[in-house]
This record gives sequence, structure tokens and C-alpha cells, in this order.
Amino acid sequence: AVVLGVLALQGAFEEHQKLFDRLQRPNVRVVQVRTPSELSSCSALVIPGGESTTLRIIAQADNGAMMEALKQFVHADKKPVWGTCAGAILLSSEVISGQDVPRNGEREPARDKYGEFLGGVDVRTSRNFFGRQKDSFEAPLVGCGAYADIASGFNAVCIRAPAILQPLSDDVEVIAHLPPAAADPSSPKATSDKPVIAAASQGHLFITIFHPELTEDARFHAFFLDKFVLPRTGGAAPR
Ligand code: GLN
Repeated sequence: AVVLGVLALQGAFEEHQKLFDRLQRPNVRVVQVRTPSELSSCSALVIPGGESTTLRIIAQADNGAMMEALKQFVHADKKPVWGTCAGAILLSSEVISGQDVPRNGEREPARDKYGEFLGGVDVRTSRNFFGRQKDSFEAPLVGCGAYADIASGFNAVCIRAPAILQPLSDDVEVIAHLPPAAADPSSPKATSDKPVIAAASQGHLFITIFHPELTEDARFHAFFLDKFVLPRTGGAAPR
């Protein structure tokens, strides 16, 4: 069976596990991952939403052993990884905060006083773009092109969510946007003319700014397995 890890250091990991379990895929075993040795037994990983700084601080414990193991998993082993919300922040190559002025398209993993992010997806992502916790919202996604089926109308639960502002490389595939003016009309996003990217991928990596594990809709969980995990682990062909 394919062993799919859900990083269980912090955040909404149990909800992810439940939604994967609900798909009842006979060849997929979902396990919680807290240590480098648990990670090494996985052929794919989900990094859940939660709080990205907290997640990074926990991963830096023991001289950063878990952070190193995650970097190896993402960059050297190139195993499929799905980051939701805080997980998407960790996998973004450039991370800014709120309405900060972007830096100049850095491709190296971003870092700040809490250390590194993982990087891997060449996008500029803004943390807490929509404001504070009270500015959390839900909105129906707009799927791009061939992704209309899996994404369109999906209820995106955005909790102090990041925004993927733009791809920084042609290797990034945009999968879905938020509808224009999805959030509170007083939030900055509503006035920006470019739609916020809600789901994107690059090679073996998949990021979503919302929390699909907090809905009953397992379409994105099935999509991750079918499009990213199984084709790279000797399972089914891509759809
Ligand atoms: N705002 C959080 C962060 O910066 C992410 C929120 C979430 O994962 N729901 O990490």
C-alpha cells in the first residue's frame, strides 16, 4: 500500500486523515507523522493548515532534524506533498506578509527570524493577506480550464488564509482562483483587480490556501491522490 503521511506537529491534521479515510482507497494507508523516521516511511505527505510560524518553530526542535527531513522529502526525494493554508506558506518560494511590498521574485526558499520555509513552488504568497481571524470567510472556487470539474463551486474555507498572489515561474500551474471580491468588501483583497490564486501546483507539489479538510467534500483529497500520489508511487495513471 501507499503510505500517505499527514504532518501532525500542529494544526488540522486529524481532519485531513478523516477525509482521506472516508475515501476508502484500499491501496492507501494514512498515518500521522511527527518524527523524521516516521516521515521516512511515507511515500507522500500532507502539511496541514494551522500556524506556519508555530509549525516551523516545532520543526526546528532537535537542531532542526524535522526541518531537514522535510527539505529532503520535498527537494531531494521529490515525493508528492500537499500543503494546505499554513502548509502552502511553507512550500512557497517567496513569502510576504499582509500587504508588504514584494521582494524581487526570489526563487530561493524564503527565510525570516524564525528560520527557513521549505519552498519548492515558485509563487509569491502573502500570509494573513485577508486580515485577522475575524476576516475569515468561505467562498466558491473558480476552477481553471480542465480543473473546472474538481474545483468549480468547491466551498473554500479560508481561515486567516494566505493569498497566492502570482506565479514566479512558467512551471507553476494555476488550478483555481477565488471569485472576485470573495471576502468582506472592506478587506484589501476585494479591491485588488487580480484574482487571488487559491490552488496551484508545480511538479510533485500541490498547494491550496483554503481548508478542504474542514468540509465534507473530498474532491481535493481524491484529486491529490489521483493526480499527484498514485502516478508517482506506482499506482493509477493520472486523470
Ligand atoms: N495565518 C496562518 C499562518 O500564517 C495560516 C492560517 C491557516 O493555516 N489557517 O500560518
